[in-house]
Amino acid sequence: MRREVEQPVPHGPAVGIDVGIARFATLSDGTFVAPLNSFKKHEQRLAKYQRRMSRKTKFSNNWKKAKARVQRIHARIANARNDFLNKTSTTISQNHAFVCIEDLRIGSMSKSSAGTSELPGKKVARKSGLNKAILDQGWFEFRRQLEYKTAWRGGFTVAVPAAYTSQTCPSRGHVAKDNRKTQTLFACIACQYENNADHVGAINVLERGQRLFACGGTALSGHPAKQEPNEATQAVLV
Ligand SMILES: [Zn+2]
Repeated sequence: MRREVEQPVPHGPAVGIDVGIARFATLSDGTFVAPLNSFKKHEQRLAKYQRRMSRKTKFSNNWKKAKARVQRIHARIANARNDFLNKTSTTISQNHAFVCIEDLRIGSMSKSSAGTSELPGKKVARKSGLNKAILDQGWFEFRRQLEYKTAWRGGFTVAVPAAYTSQTCPSRGHVAKDNRKTQTLFACIACQYENNADHVGAINVLERGQRLFACGGTALSGHPAKQEPNEATQAVLV
C-alpha cells in the first residue's frame, strides 16, 4: 500500500519579515537571522585561484588544475548559500502560516547603481560592493522558497511594498524620515517609541501584509504566484 504524503498543518502566528544586509532577515517577533555572506567568505580564495589560473598557459595541466579549483570554490559558495536559504525558509514556513515579506525590487536596485558607473571615485566602488552584497544575500530566492513552502503547507506568503516601512512608527503610525536615527535605531520623533530599526520594518511589513490580505483577497493568496502585487493592491497602501 502506498503511503500518503502527509501535509503538515501550518501553525504559529502571522509574521512580517524585513530583509537587509546587516541582518539577513528580521522577524516581527524580534528574532533575526544573521547573514551568511557566502561569497565574501570565499571571495579572497576565489580571487587567488583566479589569478593563478590567469598566469598559467591556457589548457596546460596546471591551468586545468587551477580551473578545477575555481570551479570547486564556486560550487562551495552555491551549496552553502542554498543550504542557508533552504534551512531559513523551511524554519519560517514551519513556524508561521501567514508570512509577509518586504517586496524588494532587487532588479531595479542593481540596475540603478550600475547606471552611476560614469561617475568616478569611491562612490561607485561602494555601490558595486553593495550590489555584490545584495546579490549575495539571495533575497529573491529566499522569497521564492517561502512562497512555495508556505503554500505547500497550506499557508500564505504575501509580498508587501516596502515604501516607508522603515520610517513609520508602529505605535501611532507617524511617518517621518527622522524617525530612523541610524542604520539600527528607530526612535519616533512624535511619541518616543524606540526599537531596533529592522524590527520596526518587520512589524510594519506584517501590519501592511495583513491589511493587503484583508483587502486583496485571493489575488494575493499563497499559491506560488509569479506576479508582483499589482498596482491596485499597492494603491490601497498610499
Ligand atoms: Zn510614534
